[in-house]
Amino acid sequence: MDKAQYIWMDGKLVAWDDAKIHILTHTLHYGNGVFEGTRAYMTENGLAIFKLREHTKRLLNSAKITRIKPTFSLEELEKAHIELLKANDFKSNVYIRPLIYLGYGVMGLNHIKAPVNTAIAAWQWGSYLGDEGLENGIRVKISSFVRNPAKSVMGKAKAAANYLNSQMAKYEAIEAGYEEALLLDDEGFIAEGSGECFFIVRNGVLITPPNDTSLESITQATVLDLAKEAGIPIERRRISRDEAYIADEAFFTGTAAEVTPIKDIDNYIIGDGNRGAMTKQLQEAYFDVVYGRNLKYKHLLTYI
Ligand code: PMP
Repeated sequence: MDKAQYIWMDGKLVAWDDAKIHILTHTLHYGNGVFEGTRAYMTENGLAIFKLREHTKRLLNSAKITRIKPTFSLEELEKAHIELLKANDFKSNVYIRPLIYLGYGVMGLNHIKAPVNTAIAAWQWGSYLGDEGLENGIRVKISSFVRNPAKSVMGKAKAAANYLNSQMAKYEAIEAGYEEALLLDDEGFIAEGSGECFFIVRNGVLITPPNDTSLESITQATVLDLAKEAGIPIERRRISRDEAYIADEAFFTGTAAEVTPIKDIDNYIIGDGNRGAMTKQLQEAYFDVVYGRNLKYKHLLTYI
């Protein structure tokens, strides 16, 4: 990976190679830790973090859900992001990974007395599913793994432990020759990708599942705002597997995935197999926002 100079750890800037933890760090063993995936874009006016407030709020909400008591406030965490990006003097787009984790000192499942640590790392990172994918779409496989049901885990938390399910789905999809997995919920309707929300277009209507039991996605909300503004009819409802196969267009959204078109699902070609017209329109609108070219959304950017 593209190393940066510093990682922020509990209030200090630590050299990248020295940002180490003890092997008995609690989170490493039991998976109770919460994180974010945030992006900063190199705009005409320099690097700017997109929706820093929303990501930081979600991080603190994830901590609340998983009974971790944060040691830094919302304002302190936001300042830390800015300090870190300034110190690293990045030259291109950056991915930011804040993590609140349970540290060293207590073992066993009851973590309540474990120390709470916070780190923020950032590094230069291009498109998550590839530049080729952004333009021409990716191949997607419906997973044999079912999305964690709400009765078992709390999907509103961006918790490390929740991602084993996503990882298994992702490995399976890649090994089968696809680029991403699409997971069904425990009733057989489409839930989401391994790290993305799912949209389809049918007869000019943009449809995305309500994701009432999963993460409150920040990119999905942005794309829905942009669609509303463009006068595109929207439906928030469940999508079955067979409806996805016959969609005119399909795409994924996520901070990492941005707006990535889908060219086939389980080898069923979506539309004509190319990026659809509405997908392209929303993708361009999204990039205009994150790169600070749409002045109406400039308040969502934190310039470094
Ligand atoms: N679902 C899951 C499981 C994810 O990991 C992500 C990425 N954070 C998303 C959806 C998309 O969320 P966001 O748009 O906030 O990045």
